[in-house]
Amino acid sequence: MEAEWVKQMKNQVNTLEKLAKYINISDDEKKAIETLKTKWGTTPYFASLMDKDDPNCPIRKQVIPSMKEQVNKYGMDNYLVWKENRATEEIRPDSIARQYHDRIAFTVVQNCGIYCRHCFRKELVVDQDLKLKFDVEEGLAWIAEHPEVRDVLITGGDPLLLSDEKLEYLITKLRELPHIEMIRIGTRLPIVLPHRITEGLKKAIGGFHKVPVWISTQCNHPKEITEETAKAVYELMNCGINVGNQAVLLKGINDDVDTFRELHQKLLRTRIRPYYVFYCEAAPGIDHFRTSVEKGAELIRDALRGHTTGLAQPMYVLATNIGKIPLMPDYCIVDKNEKEYTLRNHKNDTTKIPNIPE
Ligand SMILES: *Cc1c(COP(=O)(O)O)cnc(C)c1O
Ligand code: SF4
Repeated sequence: MEAEWVKQMKNQVNTLEKLAKYINISDDEKKAIETLKTKWGTTPYFASLMDKDDPNCPIRKQVIPSMKEQVNKYGMDNYLVWKENRATEEIRPDSIARQYHDRIAFTVVQNCGIYCRHCFRKELVVDQDLKLKFDVEEGLAWIAEHPEVRDVLITGGDPLLLSDEKLEYLITKLRELPHIEMIRIGTRLPIVLPHRITEGLKKAIGGFHKVPVWISTQCNHPKEITEETAKAVYELMNCGINVGNQAVLLKGINDDVDTFRELHQKLLRTRIRPYYVFYCEAAPGIDHFRTSVEKGAELIRDALRGHTTGLAQPMYVLATNIGKIPLMPDYCIVDKNEKEYTLRNHKNDTTKIPNIPE
């Protein structure tokens, strides 16, 4: 019998006809789908979360192409070559992106469960203009020769679209390398295809081992979280895998205080730990999703810090070619003199603590 997740992938919603089964398609959506030469699509499950009549539905906006993607006033050309440091001196396979000494991103697959309209790897994943070779063996061989790498982030595309056998092979090979201390998998499937978390997958990547596997998923709006998501996350934790979230700050989707707070509280209710909120990157064709740079820090100040538990606080980061740069809300230290610090909290109250001379 074919697994439900395989069926879901075979029945990707990626034509007007299939989409019409879920929503009343707006004229703008229809025009973009008919005009733009861009890959798009979603799992039937994620499509079923769409609002039938509201084109501003956060799920619709993340999945359905928009004519706005043709506008590119602020996006950078050759974005990924810049971002992933592909033009540096170090010789690396295409599958290895490197910004840090101790950890690397290892791309193992190019397809996804849904093709996010805001994807910063659009050139690679969605439009596939950037031709790169993703050879798992070549990547593994490179990692084996680099003992300074202790942390491997498996990415894509969506790595959990690989078969259980391929995943088990990959994890086993990485665990055999004495310098690998942890493995992370970046995947949207717990959100867009929770059916992928099967007993077979748990056997392939879970279980007790001194090299743990962590999952980073991507959820940008509380509407994306269902009972199914909660069960999938529970199953992952049940086999020793922690799940964190990397949200993208998206204009008109999650850049208001109420949505932002509900997203982070709901993630915790679902046992997903908020890890990062990313500023939407300067990749081509996604200008319409970008806010001001400061917006993310303001949202943490106004929606989260002090308003809800510290467990719900992600780090807001700008992802750049020189690594992720955190941007914290800057309201805490009001004043400092030789004797004391004056501190401010989220309610604008102030207090003082002594300053210890160095
Ligand atoms: C994001 C990223 C990592 C992982 O960064 P963490 O801050 O450790 O989560 C590693 N390598 C590259 C190239 C990345 O983009
Ligand atoms: S799942 Fe990730 S890689 Fe795939 S389209 Fe969405 S953001 Fe891009």
